[in-house]
Amino acid sequence: EDADLVELVRQAADAFRAAHSDHPLTVTCGPSPLRLRLDPVRVRQVLDNLLTNAAVHTPTGTPVSVEVSRSGDTALVRVTDAGPGIPAADQERVFDRFYRVDKARSRDRGGSGLGLAVARSLVAAHGGSVELSSEPGRTAITVAVPFGRVAADASR
Ligand code: ATP
Ligand code: MG
Repeated sequence: EDADLVELVRQAADAFRAAHSDHPLTVTCGPSPLRLRLDPVRVRQVLDNLLTNAAVHTPTGTPVSVEVSRSGDTALVRVTDAGPGIPAADQERVFDRFYRVDKARSRDRGGSGLGLAVARSLVAAHGGSVELSSEPGRTAITVAVPFGRVAADASR
C-alpha cells in the first residue's frame, strides 16, 4: 500500500525530539505527500534506527538533521550527524550483524549492533539501498527507495 514518506519522517522526528531532547534536530522535506509503496512499520523502524544512532553514538548536544527528497524515480532520506564519524576501516562492517566499532563504549550505550544490519535488510526488501558516508565530524546515512513497481504488479 502507498504511504507518505514525508509524514513517516515527521513522525519519526517527533519521536526523536521526545526521546533525545539534548540533540537539536533539523527536518528538511520537499513537497508532501511523497507517496510510494512501502511498509510504514518497517520504514519507521529504519528511520528510528538511523536517528537513534545519530544520538547515542555522538556526544550530548550534537546536532542531527534528516532530509527527504526525490531524485528521479527514487525517494531519498538522509540522516546526518556532526559526531565523531566512523573510521574508514569500519564503514562497511557496521552493516554486519552484531558489529560495533567501539565494543566497550557501545555496550555501555546498550546497543546490540543489529540496527544497521536490520535497516539494510528492511530497505533491501523494499528494493532500495542504504549507503554510509562518514568522516570525522560528519556521518551521513542515505536510504534510497525506488518508486517503481515490480513487474508482476505493474504489467499484469
Ligand atoms: P543497536 O542499533 O542494535 O541498538 P548499535 O547502534 O550498536 O546497536 P548499529 O546501529 O548496527 O548497532 O551500529 C553499529 C555500530 O556502528 C555502532 O555500534 C557504532 O559503533 C557505529 N555507528 C552507527 N551509527 C553511528 C553514527 N551515527 N556515528 C558514529 N558511529 C556510529
Ligand atoms: Mg543502532
